[in-house]
Amino acid sequence: MENQTESSGRRCRRILLFPLPFQGHINPMLQLGDLLYSKGFSITILHTNFNAPATSNHPHFTFKSVLDNDPQDPRFLELPSQGIAAAMSRLRFFNQFGADSLRLELELLLASSEKDGPISCLITDALCHFTQSVADSLHLPRLVLRTSSLFCLVIYASIPLLDDRGYFKLGDTHLEEQVEEFSLLKVKDILKIGIKNKEDSMVMLTAMLKQTKASSGIIWNSFKELEEPELKTVLRDFPIPSFLVPFPKHFPASSSSLLEQDRTFFPWLNNQPLNSVLYVSFGSMIQVDEKDFLEIANGLVDSKQSFLWAVRPGFVKGSSWLELLPDGFLGERGRVVKWAPQQEVLAHDATGAFWTHNGWNSTLESICEGVPMICSPIWGDQPLNARYVSEALRVGVHLEYGWQREKIANAIRRVMVDEDIRERARVLKEKVDVSLTNSGSSYQSLESLIDYISSI
Ligand code: UDP
Repeated sequence: MENQTESSGRRCRRILLFPLPFQGHINPMLQLGDLLYSKGFSITILHTNFNAPATSNHPHFTFKSVLDNDPQDPRFLELPSQGIAAAMSRLRFFNQFGADSLRLELELLLASSEKDGPISCLITDALCHFTQSVADSLHLPRLVLRTSSLFCLVIYASIPLLDDRGYFKLGDTHLEEQVEEFSLLKVKDILKIGIKNKEDSMVMLTAMLKQTKASSGIIWNSFKELEEPELKTVLRDFPIPSFLVPFPKHFPASSSSLLEQDRTFFPWLNNQPLNSVLYVSFGSMIQVDEKDFLEIANGLVDSKQSFLWAVRPGFVKGSSWLELLPDGFLGERGRVVKWAPQQEVLAHDATGAFWTHNGWNSTLESICEGVPMICSPIWGDQPLNARYVSEALRVGVHLEYGWQREKIANAIRRVMVDEDIRERARVLKEKVDVSLTNSGSSYQSLESLIDYISSI
């Protein structure tokens, strides 16, 4: 954890942070806020009322609601609030209609900067591309936070090329073929990004890439040794400063949790042997149907391993929580909660592996704790992260053919006993730890970021 240093009068300089209002985007932005605060900056979080962060967990930040302040505005009431489609429609909405409203709020903040201290810059989620023109019009430098991997951005930046080469038109018989331009990937990974036949997603992606290039710099939740070849490509294709900092190593994501964390299982976890428990969570957004849920549950039971499973309410389409499972179905070996303090679980000695959907936060949190993974990606960047984890880093077992109880049970048994995977995960953790020491890459990158923001 960081010491909160009130260094060299920087506290009078303010940084505005604007996260996209979804758990996987709020967490890294607030971790970044904590990091910048610890380096002496004042932090103002611009947030929507939808999924507003718990302000009481961050008394050191100032919070300002933007974009959806008018509860009567019918445009907001119509937006769905659950699942992937909801996230995409909100994102589209902000990018389309957010500029005027954000500009007004920023003008007010800039006008009060004599009283509240000068504003150094605005840092927004890279997906909120509309913020670049707003920042430009106010002569406010804008940096972006990319909440996924560098590998993901390299692939996203190649989508127009992959589209030209016809990948998005390929039918089901080609799914298992290798992508010629990126040998790590199969055709199905590219298709699962979710932009096939979606003109508006392509437009959004193109705008995100353009406005990322137009920004004053990119902040990544990653570290150099993890993605060295991709860093070279990013520096070549995005000729602006890039800063790589593994946030989970500085601050836990738990303080920005939108759901209440259940901690009641800790006495049980504390009594489990070293590396004996599988932690299972598929993040804040994806949903599965009943059939797949039952395959997951049966696979867990059949594996005969101890497990802690975070089943978010709404995870199973059409069910509120666990009602599909008969009482006692999961047996003595299993514990289920609605939402867990994930990083603490991953850091626990008893946790031996993580079955994940490979959202980037979960992936990096696991890497930072040296925990091997089972990869079950669904969409977006997850299939890319899963390939990277299982085939480039080789710290995970890829469950790439859907949810089938036998395959699940086999993958669980394998990941719990595979000493080679565990050793590689341990070495990777060691690399991130070294990168944080005084001459290490992450330490230096953070120092460069602070100097850079202080100088703009
Ligand atoms: N998370 C958590 N408790 C849970 C499940 C998830 O605190 O029970 C956190 C996790 O630590 C991570 C975030 O929620 O920081 C999920 O982000 P990720 O990018 O992995 O996936 P997404 O939710 O965006 O699909």
